Amino acid sequence: MFAFILYPERDKSLLRRHPWVFSKAVASIVDLDKPSTDQETVELKLCKPAPKKDIAAGALCQIRDHQGKFLCYAHYSPHSQIMLRAISFKLGERIDYDFFKQRLAAASAKRIPLQQAGNDGVRLVAAEGDYLPGLIVDRYDKVISLAITSWGMEANYEHLIMALHELFPECYLYERSDGKARSKEHLPQRVGLIDFMQPSAQDNLQDEHGKALPNSRQVKSVPRLRAPQIAADAAVDGEQISLTEAIPDTIYVKESNLVSIPIDVMQGHKTGGYLDQRQSRLHTYHLCCEFKELHGSGPRVLNCFSYTGGFGLFALKGGASSVYNVDVSGHALGAAKAGVAFNHLDPGRCKFIKKDVFAFLREEVKKGTKFDVVILDPPKFAESKSTLATACRGYQDINRLGLQLVASGGHLLTFSCSGLMTEELFQKIVADAALDAQVEAQIVGTLRQDRDHPVALPCPESFYLKGLDILVN
Ligand code: SAH
Repeated sequence: MFAFILYPERDKSLLRRHPWVFSKAVASIVDLDKPSTDQETVELKLCKPAPKKDIAAGALCQIRDHQGKFLCYAHYSPHSQIMLRAISFKLGERIDYDFFKQRLAAASAKRIPLQQAGNDGVRLVAAEGDYLPGLIVDRYDKVISLAITSWGMEANYEHLIMALHELFPECYLYERSDGKARSKEHLPQRVGLIDFMQPSAQDNLQDEHGKALPNSRQVKSVPRLRAPQIAADAAVDGEQISLTEAIPDTIYVKESNLVSIPIDVMQGHKTGGYLDQRQSRLHTYHLCCEFKELHGSGPRVLNCFSYTGGFGLFALKGGASSVYNVDVSGHALGAAKAGVAFNHLDPGRCKFIKKDVFAFLREEVKKGTKFDVVILDPPKFAESKSTLATACRGYQDINRLGLQLVASGGHLLTFSCSGLMTEELFQKIVADAALDAQVEAQIVGTLRQDRDHPVALPCPESFYLKGLDILVN
């Protein structure tokens, strides 16, 4: 095993249990398996820059401070700015199959109350938020859709898949390791149904240099991935099943015991959908119910960036008199329409508008249209620090236009899922937007990613989704 030795003072965040170490913090790398040096007692000589060593991508390493003191075990990512991701702070802990199974079981057990509250879609593992950096595991009814985004998790692929299979034998496993995060790590894109075959020569998992991956464990069967186009028939535990039988094009996932949201695991965004907005969709439902109570008729709702219409379904269920779903994706709007029918809600109260939201908002402002509830849930505008300023202008624009469309006494529900955007900055942008729109408005609620997307206290970066409920006077 290799040990990465940090420069003095660069151990601070690890001591606070933040799991990331950037390459510039590393002073040197030593091979702990070389017998000549007693790593525990010898004061380590610092060398600059860090020497290149032949360390396999995803290898388990130690991180030590400049005096050679153990800080944690971590996985090595050769291509990412985040060179090391801590996995355990306990010296001597074995990072093996049982370790991963225990972490997966602990994380998923915390979701049981949510599932019992009528949610068939839950995030079982939220990466850093659940002390498993580089791993997302979402459950949509009987399908588990997972994404591996770091070399560390990639190296433990077999452990993770076998443990999930053991913990959830009733579920099909589908892999959606196809996001931008994988490109940053130089990991290949990979999607498909995972089936379980007897071991064969081809099944040996290898790293990018063709070397067998570390930590591999003898298992009865081996997980093997069938990409959708070649997976017409897949064997799950030896039983032949078709891909479409395992993974339907649309899974209707019951949410908050109220409606079922359409999820497309194979083609949809992320692992299929946006579980993080569950709490805010429920908030929308309550808002619509209250409005109807108060005014006798349900609110007129505008759902911008609707995707498959989740917010719209909750608004309809809460008695909205009309719901406009606006999105650029015709495919998503098709799913939204089917979702209305599936939930036996009134299609006569819905419109599905395929249009750029910015253009739509401008046109409606010009026409003087008013809505009682306007929802703005855009995609991530700020991908990096360098795009934050442009992103802020984008947020200010849509919020100004959105606020201009809200009728007096109505609400704007506005969100940002950009991790780089703090709650304070977002609030300031919305305040500026209100000034520009010349409306007087109050914050009457704050909204956040739901509780199956926990924020690990040492890792504030696991908090990303923030929202405001704004009452327009
Ligand atoms: N509110 C949704 C998730 C929204 S995801 C839910 O609760 O499930 C963001 C959506 O914005 C995607 O469906 C994407 O197609 C859409 N989108 C991105 N840019 C857009 C634009 N300029 N105009 C309209 N829709 C856009």
